[in-house]
Amino acid sequence: MKTTDVLIIGTGIAGITTAIQLAKNPNRKIILLSRSSDIHKSNTFWAQGGIIHRGPGDGAEMLVQDILAAGAGASLPEAAHILAEEGPRLLDEILIGQAHIQFDREPDGTLSYGQEAAHSCRRIVHVGDGTGAAISKGLVDLLKDYPNIEVISNATAVDLITYPHHSRDPLDNYRPVKCCGAYVFDRNGRAIHRTLAAVTVLATGGLGRIYRNTTNPPGARGDGIAMASRAGARIVNAEYIQFHPTALAAPGAEGFLISEAVRGEGGALLDPDGHPFMQKYSPEWEDLAPRDVTARAIHAEMETNGYSFVLLDIASHMSASALKTRFPNIYAECMRVGIDITQEPIPVVPAAHYSCGGVAVDSYGQASITNLFAVGEVSCTGLHGANRLASTSLLEGLVWGHRAGQKIEEMFNSQTFQIPTRQDVPPWDESGLINDSDPALIQGDMQTIQNIMWHYVGLIRSSDRLARAIRELRHLQNEVETFYQRTKLSDGLIGLRNAVEVALIVARAAYHNRQSRGSHYRVDAVEAGDRLL
Ligand SMILES: Cc1cc2nc3c(=O)[nH]c(=O)nc-3n(C[C@H](O)[C@H](O)[C@H](O)COP(=O)(O)OP(=O)(O)OC[C@H]3O[C@@H](n4cnc5c(N)ncnc54)[C@H](O)[C@@H]3O)c2cc1C
Repeated sequence: MKTTDVLIIGTGIAGITTAIQLAKNPNRKIILLSRSSDIHKSNTFWAQGGIIHRGPGDGAEMLVQDILAAGAGASLPEAAHILAEEGPRLLDEILIGQAHIQFDREPDGTLSYGQEAAHSCRRIVHVGDGTGAAISKGLVDLLKDYPNIEVISNATAVDLITYPHHSRDPLDNYRPVKCCGAYVFDRNGRAIHRTLAAVTVLATGGLGRIYRNTTNPPGARGDGIAMASRAGARIVNAEYIQFHPTALAAPGAEGFLISEAVRGEGGALLDPDGHPFMQKYSPEWEDLAPRDVTARAIHAEMETNGYSFVLLDIASHMSASALKTRFPNIYAECMRVGIDITQEPIPVVPAAHYSCGGVAVDSYGQASITNLFAVGEVSCTGLHGANRLASTSLLEGLVWGHRAGQKIEEMFNSQTFQIPTRQDVPPWDESGLINDSDPALIQGDMQTIQNIMWHYVGLIRSSDRLARAIRELRHLQNEVETFYQRTKLSDGLIGLRNAVEVALIVARAAYHNRQSRGSHYRVDAVEAGDRLL
């Protein structure tokens, strides 16, 4: 059993930013957990395009307007203002000043600003097409400066410890629900420990892995949303899943992101026989149609014609040398799996990319349960509304990670916390569990969830598809729960239980929201203002 002031679950940009902000007080004890053996491994690591700063001629109000436009009427203006006003300064202070991240610069030494879809000016800073890897490395290196942060890898949080649920005092039933830490599975020792904390911060990232096609790395299976939901926290906007139109469809590199900048440089979408098709779906924009329109067009082509992918041709539009310079990582990854993008088209599919909803939090990352915070992709600050503006998510993790750290420190200075003791919280009970989890069952069930989500809760939704998904997921959840109650824990089993829970949360939210908006598209949508019953 461990005891700490603050338990932070997740080592992406959001979790580490919270940790370093808190660790500035040398008396504050922080535990930072990652389920991975390598704490760099997170969605943050895989971010390609960049992060928002303030470009030439740019201003906070311009960024706010772009965020609100992308969010399709569902973004919270207050959240957009916080990001736009605080983000560029925190990027300078933390990422450049403290973590020494070397963003690309112009020959005169000024930052090099990129342009991305739906931004009204150049404002994205980047490190080649590997921005996330550079940020992740810089932040992880920074942790070494803070001996009061204990980093624990190979540790999967299983469930939040909450009162009254885990309390031995019956009178806790009459008090507000309070979070006191988490049960944590030590993947090396295969044991479950209690980590008791005054404040707990979820920073567990996204959920793309509940879909068959996704750009997200393994582990992005919605653990934080599932844990928070089981504890009774509010989850909002779960139906708004952003799909990226072009992920690599090649064995051994499934889901690798092919940046939208490839279409920006003239890349054309073709069916497998080499015929262009975007004209049919977007006569005005064709291959430069917005992300959601393009993703749905590819999906429709695949579904109608039974294709398992479409093609993205950049070889005919850029010279080989320009291509290698502009997209070094994409070129290298495609070459690794035998595709020379300077000579041949790239097989692509749309893929689940980002969760705009999540654990409902306020402007400091506080969730609806006392002493529980959520930061980064697991949370819903309201910023992204129904559709995320490109390159806002890294900055959101930085800003809300910082704000959560500040708020928690303020709480320590203004109130006394009672961290529970060993006697207050029961240990995890594994008695009677004899079975080791069967990897075949876990893999099979995970694939079932991914297929249900892809076909029925994917890019094009309807009441029939969603109702079918909910029925099948409910049945599967019963099976998984029975399996879970009888079986010794493993990381895979924890993830499967969370994945089915989160899949149901997304499917139910999509079923109940009958208006198409942003990334949530229903063929049987009602107009805004119609009766929603
Ligand atoms: C391919 C790709 C490209 C992207 N490009 C961009 C971009 O250019 N710009 C941009 O702004 N955004 C981009 N995004 C989105 C962005 O990367 C993420 O939204 C952001 O990095 C999320 O950060 P985070 O700190 O919330 O979570 P993550 O970085 O995902 O970190 C989650 C952490 O939680 C840990 N964890 C999860 N579950 C548990 C558990 N049960 N117990 C313990 N630990 C757990 C993980 O191990 C990990 O350490 C991209 C995403 C992808 C996948």
